[in-house]
Amino acid sequence: MSLLIYMQHGKRKGGLVPEEDAKVSVFDHGLLYGDGVFEGIRAYAGKVFRHQEHIERLYNSAKAIDLEIPMKKADMIKAVEETVKANKLTDCYIRLLVTRGKGPMGLDPNKCVDPCVVIIATTISMYPEEQYRKGLEIITATTLRNHPAALDPRIKSLNYLNNILAKIEADTAGAFEAIMLNTDGLVAECTGDNIFLVIDGALCTPPGTAGVLKGVTRGVVMELARKQKIEVKEVELSRYDVYTAEECFLTGTGAEIIAVVKVDGRTIGNGKPGPITQKLLKEFRKLTKSGK
Ligand code: PMP
Repeated sequence: MSLLIYMQHGKRKGGLVPEEDAKVSVFDHGLLYGDGVFEGIRAYAGKVFRHQEHIERLYNSAKAIDLEIPMKKADMIKAVEETVKANKLTDCYIRLLVTRGKGPMGLDPNKCVDPCVVIIATTISMYPEEQYRKGLEIITATTLRNHPAALDPRIKSLNYLNNILAKIEADTAGAFEAIMLNTDGLVAECTGDNIFLVIDGALCTPPGTAGVLKGVTRGVVMELARKQKIEVKEVELSRYDVYTAEECFLTGTGAEIIAVVKVDGRTIGNGKPGPITQKLLKEFRKLTKSGK
């Protein structure tokens, strides 16, 4: 079935077009250089989850690469909602991207006119339900996460090659995900998910300064944990901490919360999704069902 895609070129009023007509130029710097930003968002029961937070992150990513999004935040919010509704979707995945736009060959972003806004709302494909019950086996990649001074992982840019290289390593090893270390050799995040460990009963995750995307799900999980009176710490973590943790899980818009039971062949905890992981997943699902 053909989807309706929201497209806008520069400040000219955008709108919904059939998928076949949703086109971006081959001269768009988003395609030529990965020059642009994006968001992955979910809607549950027809409501866009943490909508404002995703929009704020998108505009901050754009600001960090000196890209002016040709729409006000309020209009962007409306356009996302309109796209979900027009496709008659209630539980779905939304991909929102803004490219630098069409320009001549050469890197200069100032020669690009009309950034291009694309909003896709489609059905979500996540890990099979069995993986949520059993937990994942993952690896540590040899590809390091981008150094923040080169390309800050807090920028959700269209250039995902760093993560893709690590994902290739995961695929080759037959694993679903890969932990990426930063240039200090400390744990940063996974290719498309943030990572959490339970150490001495406290929930630990690397801070933004470790070179991680500040995941929206990561933030929600930290809030939920605090409500459950679970101590939450943003701390530097090494592979030692991973291997000796009581529990490990990943968070992301697509994955939501998923337990990790093996890393690099070593068993984490007792090899089953742990109690804190299960509790947080239950609370997370309650929250998304509640439409808040
Ligand atoms: N880290 C990376 C590298 C990601 O691409 C993502 C999003 N897929 C995340 C973490 C999780 O972020 P969020 O919870 O906002 O989806």
